[in-house]
Amino acid sequence: MRRNSVVKGFRALTGAALVLAVLVFLTAAGMARAADYSGPLFDAHLHYNDEAWNGRTGPHPPADVLARFQRNGVQAIVANSRPNDGTRTLAEAQNETRKAGVTVVPFVRLYRNRADYDNWFRDESIYQMVQAELARGTPALAYRGIGEFHLYDSGNANGPVARKLMALAEAKDLVVLAHVDDAAIELLMSNTPSRGQKMRLIWAHTGIGGPTVGRVDELFAKYPLLMGELSYRPGLTCRGEQAGDKLCPEWRALLLKYPSRFMIGSDTWVNQRWLQYDELMQGYRHWLGELPPEVARRIAWDNGASLFGLN
Ligand SMILES: [Zn+2]
Repeated sequence: MRRNSVVKGFRALTGAALVLAVLVFLTAAGMARAADYSGPLFDAHLHYNDEAWNGRTGPHPPADVLARFQRNGVQAIVANSRPNDGTRTLAEAQNETRKAGVTVVPFVRLYRNRADYDNWFRDESIYQMVQAELARGTPALAYRGIGEFHLYDSGNANGPVARKLMALAEAKDLVVLAHVDDAAIELLMSNTPSRGQKMRLIWAHTGIGGPTVGRVDELFAKYPLLMGELSYRPGLTCRGEQAGDKLCPEWRALLLKYPSRFMIGSDTWVNQRWLQYDELMQGYRHWLGELPPEVARRIAWDNGASLFGLN
């Protein structure tokens, strides 16, 4: 009798333990993160400024930045630098970039120095510099775009040189990389011959001031070739329960609604960003892994590759 009850008790315990083990397993499986995205990356917002490497000296010579691209699976970059010599250095290093498996997509930056940030939209000499640089080209691809430029006051989108550059970009089918607010997007678009319908504009950070998802949606619907680059985007990721950030639900929904309109970027605007380059790319891979694989691949690579005809 006693022996029987012990056996029964043991059996009952085994049963309970088994149920418990199954529950723990199912919970763990449910909570397990999707694997990080592991495909190629297109860095659509990259600067190679003179403080990184001025052609002779600096903490990040070409071999250093190419190694960073290579170990992070970055296979193409939009290079725009202050001054344009940095972009030219990368574009001229054709053997090295080929060996590293990196395609350089060069843009003409509007800035020769920091003073140009606040004045480019009305400075005729900038317009002339852009035209001279476009005519000069680079040994890799021809220049494919203009920017990044900033407008700290959106009204300056109506400055005489800003208007001329937008018209030039549309006429020459150049992509524009603009760090501006939502009001300036509308002004810049309205200053092109097609009123923005044919304008290929990459919105740096998709608005660093954090316009609402609804407002971004509205602009994406209005301008069919508007693209959003996602570095520094406020509200994109939320603190997850486990290690690493997760996509915030409303941003996840927006990325799923417009899978062909977003791109990732490093924005190496100061040298510190070069030091963080691995971490930044790992951060992207982390939240890209939460998306359906085909959407992740588009945002990570395909959208940039098709914008510049790389695939
Ligand atoms: Zn930037």
